[in-house]
Amino acid sequence: MTSPTTNRRAQLLQAATQDTLWDVLVIGGGASGLGAALEAATRGYRTLLLEAHDYAKGTSSRSTKLVHGGVRYLAQGNVSLVREALHERGLLKKNAPHLVHDLGFLIASYTWWSKPFYGIGLKMYDALAGKLNLKSSRLIGRKEALTLAPTLKQDRLSGGVLYFDGQFDDSRLAITLLRTFEDYGGVALNAAPVVGLSKAGGKVSGATFKDSETGREYAVRARTVINATGVFVDSLRQMDDAGAKPMLSPSQGVHVVVDRRFLPGNSALMVPRTDDGRVLFAVPWHDHVVIGTTDTAVPEVSLEPRALPEEIEFILQTAAQYLDPAPTRADVRSVYVGLRPLVKAAEGSDTKALSRDHVIRISESGLLTLTGGKWTTYRRMGEDAVNRAADLAGLPPRLSLTPGLPLHGWSQADVADHWKVYGTDAASIQALDGGKTLLHPELPYSEAEVRWAARMEQARTVEDVLARRLRALLLNARASREAAPRTAALLAEELGHDAAWQAEQVRVYQELAAGYMLPG
Ligand SMILES: Cc1cc2nc3c(=O)[nH]c(=O)nc-3n(C[C@H](O)[C@H](O)[C@H](O)COP(=O)(O)OP(=O)(O)OC[C@H]3O[C@@H](n4cnc5c(N)ncnc54)[C@H](O)[C@@H]3O)c2cc1C
Repeated sequence: MTSPTTNRRAQLLQAATQDTLWDVLVIGGGASGLGAALEAATRGYRTLLLEAHDYAKGTSSRSTKLVHGGVRYLAQGNVSLVREALHERGLLKKNAPHLVHDLGFLIASYTWWSKPFYGIGLKMYDALAGKLNLKSSRLIGRKEALTLAPTLKQDRLSGGVLYFDGQFDDSRLAITLLRTFEDYGGVALNAAPVVGLSKAGGKVSGATFKDSETGREYAVRARTVINATGVFVDSLRQMDDAGAKPMLSPSQGVHVVVDRRFLPGNSALMVPRTDDGRVLFAVPWHDHVVIGTTDTAVPEVSLEPRALPEEIEFILQTAAQYLDPAPTRADVRSVYVGLRPLVKAAEGSDTKALSRDHVIRISESGLLTLTGGKWTTYRRMGEDAVNRAADLAGLPPRLSLTPGLPLHGWSQADVADHWKVYGTDAASIQALDGGKTLLHPELPYSEAEVRWAARMEQARTVEDVLARRLRALLLNARASREAAPRTAALLAEELGHDAAWQAEQVRVYQELAAGYMLPG
């Protein structure tokens, strides 16, 4: 069976593999790779991006959903990192108002010293944002604190400090970067893992990738190759040089998602110092609350990392110190885990001390590895990487356009939360077949969004749709499992698949989603 959307994949494959010498090949379709690819394409370099699984399948769909300078890094004295991230926060808000909005964060005060202490620190945070600051931070009294966060524990509460940061939808930003990249003539392919690098005269000259849907392998040539594979950068570095020593020391961060009734106001909570010396956030997001995170060193990287029981306990216990009522295990709708690509420091140091800054490393053969950093600074990471890559490959130097580049769908329209992420595309989606039919009664999504994801956003599987085009997996893992059969049927219609394909998709998805639910 063929359909217009099947043909679209064939066209993309053909565009990727036609006998072309690409200026830039980017490997990895997370924040770093998409940022670098968009940077290259907007400078007019012919750019190909290859993603092994799906855009934002890795860490980039598993963040705390903050566009932030990082109050924590300020406490560590890392002023330049915070200043850069606050600048990027301001640019992203201007360039993607449909995906980023301001959010108030409350640090609740239960001791005499905490208000002035955090109040002064946050004035510095405001100042570092310069002209791009959001609203200024301020001290607030008990009554206002309880208006902003009515479920705060009241005993000994004296008010707190309110400051502002940005909030976003991470995988929707990834898809928006993909669409913008395509708008500028870039070619991107998912389900296309790079399985080898090719060399000419000792220099990296391209790569071999596999089309996961057919098993067929293709070779592509490029003047410069950027390795932006997140926690997998070391395996690419070892394809380049079998003896390359690992540069990452990954750690995992767990979030739990609960109903909005546990934090019903319009503000997030920030706990600046948990019992293990970290920060913890409780953030309203798509009519739910995301609570996290942890920082646990992991010996091995995996595509689907799992939370440890003690990480869940830690999050729920810390939340219970501040919230009344506090969520219990039975209230958890979803648990998701992301891996931080932390760049190694000296032997034996703990992961909280490792570099959160981004790092560019160039191997002897010219493979450029881009890693570290955070979602907030993806644009700056891309700019730095493409400056270096252009220099390496002798591409004509060109100025970066991304600081002022509106992203696909740019819109300031004030529309309902879940349509907002589509920006100007929302009306076209609503006009499709199923625009008014809910995919599942407990999820906000319509059937038309599945069709759109397949036609316009390269969704290939039930997981691509329910985990990253829509956020059903993160908002309510159980409901997302129930939505899988209908999603598979819609996708099969769009992509030209049969009943056996649907059954297999449902089986695979339900197994995956079970890993996001808490047992018992
Ligand atoms: C728990 C947690 C919370 C966070 N919260 C925030 C936050 O609130 N705000 C913020 O700004 N930042 C946050 N971050 C940081 C941010 O999420 C990451 O820095 C960012 O997502 C990393 O993106 P990446 O592209 O480098 O990696 P990834 O997103 O992991 O992307 C790498 C991609 O490479 C692909 N790949 C791997 N191997 C191959 C191959 N052989 N061929 C082709 N493709 C391949 C993978 O499939 C993957 O899609 C958080 C991080 C964590 C872990």
